[in-house]
Amino acid sequence: MISIKKDLTAIPSSLNSNLTNQRRNEHIAASQYLKGSKYDSRYKMKDIKKALYDLYYGKCAFCEYAPSESHVEHFRPKDSYWWLAYSWDNLIFACPKCNKAKNNTFGIKGAKATCPTDTSNIHKLAKNYNSIELNQLIHPEFELNIHLTLQFQQDGSISSTDTRMQYTVDLCKLDREDLRDKRKTVLDDFMEKINDRKFQYQNEPLKLKESLRNLIRDFIRETNNPKNTFIAWRKYIIQHLLATIIA
Ligand SMILES: [Zn+2]
Repeated sequence: MISIKKDLTAIPSSLNSNLTNQRRNEHIAASQYLKGSKYDSRYKMKDIKKALYDLYYGKCAFCEYAPSESHVEHFRPKDSYWWLAYSWDNLIFACPKCNKAKNNTFGIKGAKATCPTDTSNIHKLAKNYNSIELNQLIHPEFELNIHLTLQFQQDGSISSTDTRMQYTVDLCKLDREDLRDKRKTVLDDFMEKINDRKFQYQNEPLKLKESLRNLIRDFIRETNNPKNTFIAWRKYIIQHLLATIIA
């Protein structure tokens, strides 16, 4: 999981269309999220999907994997926060597995926000809500350098000593086996290349040094490319595991 910088002024136009405004008002009038495709379709419009896909590079906000199928996900669940169903700062990009695991759970330690009487700020309520609700799930668009609170093991497992990050890991099941395996593959591939070079240049220390330097440079370049999966894990490898790997 990494921090994402969303431009809250670049609101996809369909989130402000007359029909979406009408549907939003219907939820508010009913004091609940009304079911049905005519309501669900409003947050799945093409321009919303595209804006979120571009912002997240097609990767899940929670696990950083890029599945073939992704969902427009409500950070605050629409069933409990029906007025935020079409709010730009409440929409994120998530894979089906994290989305399903998170479901409608949303732990808070403060006071729950209530539906506002005035919807003129409907696309930028999250910042204020975060401060009054003390949400336990980490919002990737409102907290900086969140990857620094994560710890990984060489088998790809993930945890955190930060209470809220561990809540996020547990809720979205970020330590699930398929993700552990995928993360482990990133490290295994890197280590395999290093070991190949060590073997190839076992009697040529200068060439080995240069070759390893190139491999590390490439790995750092891949880590700095936001299109790649598991950036938090790659950064952790560089910061915490690299010295041991190349020793
Ligand atoms: Zn995910």
